[in-house]
Amino acid sequence: MADIAFRGVNKIYPNGFKAVHNLDLAIRDGEFLVMVGPSGCGKSTTLRMLAGLEDISSGDLLIGGERVNGLHPRARNIAMVFQSYALYPHKTVQGNIEFPLRMAKVPKDEVKARALKVARMLELEPLLHRKPGLLSGGQRQRVAMARALVRDPVAFLLDEPLSNLDAKLRVQMRAEIAALQQRTGTTTVYVTHDQVEAMTMGDRVAVFKEGRLQQVDTPQQLFERPVNTFVASFIGSPSMNLIASHVEPAGDGLVLSLAGERIAVGHGLEARFDNPVGSAGKVTQIGLRPEDAVDPHLAGEGRRLHGRVVMTELLGREQMVYLDLRDGTRVVARLHADHRAHAGDEIAIGIDPARLYLFRADGRALAYK
Ligand code: ATP
Repeated sequence: MADIAFRGVNKIYPNGFKAVHNLDLAIRDGEFLVMVGPSGCGKSTTLRMLAGLEDISSGDLLIGGERVNGLHPRARNIAMVFQSYALYPHKTVQGNIEFPLRMAKVPKDEVKARALKVARMLELEPLLHRKPGLLSGGQRQRVAMARALVRDPVAFLLDEPLSNLDAKLRVQMRAEIAALQQRTGTTTVYVTHDQVEAMTMGDRVAVFKEGRLQQVDTPQQLFERPVNTFVASFIGSPSMNLIASHVEPAGDGLVLSLAGERIAVGHGLEARFDNPVGSAGKVTQIGLRPEDAVDPHLAGEGRRLHGRVVMTELLGREQMVYLDLRDGTRVVARLHADHRAHAGDEIAIGIDPARLYLFRADGRALAYK
């Protein structure tokens, strides 16, 4: 079993800086968990504590139910792939893959057989006799993974493994790593600052900010039910629009006041939120994803926001339209390219209440159903 649990883990560096605050996180056996967050949020520190490369200041780290706080990295049988790959330049691909087994004094025949098996899995067999200098970035990446996997580790850790690759190769390697993880079923923890990478690869994604875990959930739940404005705006591209707003009861439904306009939402929030009418007074911001702006004619009277177009970006069938609402709030909407908007145009965007997000003054989302 290789389930992993952080229980109340803190990391304070010798200079007094607290990089990880009271982390509680359970990673299931065989799971692909992605840690994501902006630079400096503590995700690498967390991964390094798991690998045993960084001391834990307080709290417990458990692997397979056993406390491993003080255990030497080698004794943890965890494999880690770094951004730089760190291949041995004078050894062949085969020599690189076999190295960890030779170090572990595995019998020669077994070394050959295990190296060949991983090389096949990663489609490296034709390259076994080449040196790393003669490989492409993607191939080097695969050798680094093969070398990590050959030990049959209990967990596989990757720290921004794709950041040295060009955009196209990155997309390809993303799919390869995800497929490889499914084949091997090895518990995998993957660190990235790229939310697209996180959302496309992880069974679950853990979002960090300033050393604190904000939310850990499936990609779909993170997108649909973010716990606060940070997660809401970090996940999704372009970011969710956050607009200052009041929500008031009106008749037996609700009305939003925002950007100098009033939007009649009726009972449109009740499918997603627990008691939106009762909590109305607490909402100070609404969230609108750019792709959730709807055709103003379909939205109907009383569910439109008006603004002046500042800039547009045409993306094939769609366009990103940046507009200033009546009170000057800048928002971005992803609209169909059929009706091309131009800078200076006055346009309306339609609001579908069922797709709105609601937040309190402290940034927390209103409770979901
Ligand atoms: P990045 O994506 O930039 O690598 P990260 O989220 O992985 O960022 P960490 O490398 O975990 O962040 O660093 C978290 C915080 O701890 C940062 O503010 C960093 O400056 C600080 N930090 C890292 N290493 C040390 C150290 N040895 N001593 C003091 N502070 C450190």
